[in-house]
Amino acid sequence: MTKRDYYEVLGVGRNASVEEIKKAYRQLARQYHPDVSKLDRKAAEEKFKEMSEAYEVLADADKRRLYDSYGHSGVSGQFREGSFNWGDFSHFGDLRDIFSDLGAYDIGGTGFGGSIFDLMFGRGDGASPNYRKRKGQSLRYDIEITLEEAASGVSKEVSIPHSVKCATCNGTGSKDGKVTTCPSCGGKGQISRAERRGYSQYVSITTCPKCRGAGRSVIDPCSICKGSGTSLKTSRISIDIPKGIEDGMNLRVPGAGEADVGGGSSGDLFVVVHIKEHGLFKRDGPDIWIDWSIGFAQAALGDEVEIPTLKGKARLKIPAGTQGDTIFRLKKSGIEHVDGRGAGDQYVRVKIIVPEKLSQEQKELLKRFEELETGPKGKFSRFKRGRSS
Ligand SMILES: [Zn+2]
Ligand SMILES: [Zn+2]
Repeated sequence: MTKRDYYEVLGVGRNASVEEIKKAYRQLARQYHPDVSKLDRKAAEEKFKEMSEAYEVLADADKRRLYDSYGHSGVSGQFREGSFNWGDFSHFGDLRDIFSDLGAYDIGGTGFGGSIFDLMFGRGDGASPNYRKRKGQSLRYDIEITLEEAASGVSKEVSIPHSVKCATCNGTGSKDGKVTTCPSCGGKGQISRAERRGYSQYVSITTCPKCRGAGRSVIDPCSICKGSGTSLKTSRISIDIPKGIEDGMNLRVPGAGEADVGGGSSGDLFVVVHIKEHGLFKRDGPDIWIDWSIGFAQAALGDEVEIPTLKGKARLKIPAGTQGDTIFRLKKSGIEHVDGRGAGDQYVRVKIIVPEKLSQEQKELLKRFEELETGPKGKFSRFKRGRSS
């Protein structure tokens, strides 16, 4: 199959900036992510793979230069099926952001390293001799913080029940450290079975039931972990949530997931951050909105009022003659961008309150005011032309 031009795949011009490329990719990712796409899964995966590859090259200045000069052959070595590993996957962080935006990407269950990425890059093909260098399953933990905490950043301690390497046998599962290659799978940890259906041959791959994927068998099992090499533990983990974090973003704590049965490295913990609704403030990215009520006399005469912000009180000058729904901006009183691009602003939408009850004195003053307004020289004079009644 001939490969499509990467610029064409992402629908951007050849002079597109990295930002434009990123934007185009995010839009396409939303559309074609196999978990949300309307296409059938296989087609969506193909599409997704194609655009991820295009993005991987065009978002990287060096690879893009090679591609611009030599075309696909300049960068082809990097995309052999099955040759991808996590270390090469430099834009993994971006993808993770995108998936967290989509809200469709479940990082629990099968583990982060075990779903769409395997499908895309053939990690799960079982043919590679390195396949047993695996990672344990990843875990997901949902945490809720306040808007104030999101604005200032916060450190949270969480309790994570997970499996860890058995300390007694150091993860080997064996009392004396002696292990042999699993006779069932020959050390691969997986069993592949070829099947013929009509003219096609299918290969199904399953985790070896005997060694549960570890690839070895223990002669004399450890009495503490019964040969599994893992034990259950609840760990207290401190999570540093950076200021500016947005609802739905997730943080990765490497190695805090489940231990690997095969003695590989532990999976990661993904902490998904949710931000509580605030009674006063509404957030719009880095900006904060607040509705603030003032009296109609304050609006007419002008005043200076104290407005709450996420960083304490701020003074706001209301000019004389302010109308309802006027929006004032308190510069830099919003939330800082999570990537350090400076702070947003706070917008104050002024609501003007007409009193429902008046004292006798207030009534008299307002009557007098009305007389001036509607009198011969008043703004709403009954004696002016066109306002006859
Ligand atoms: Zn086995
Ligand atoms: Zn043990």
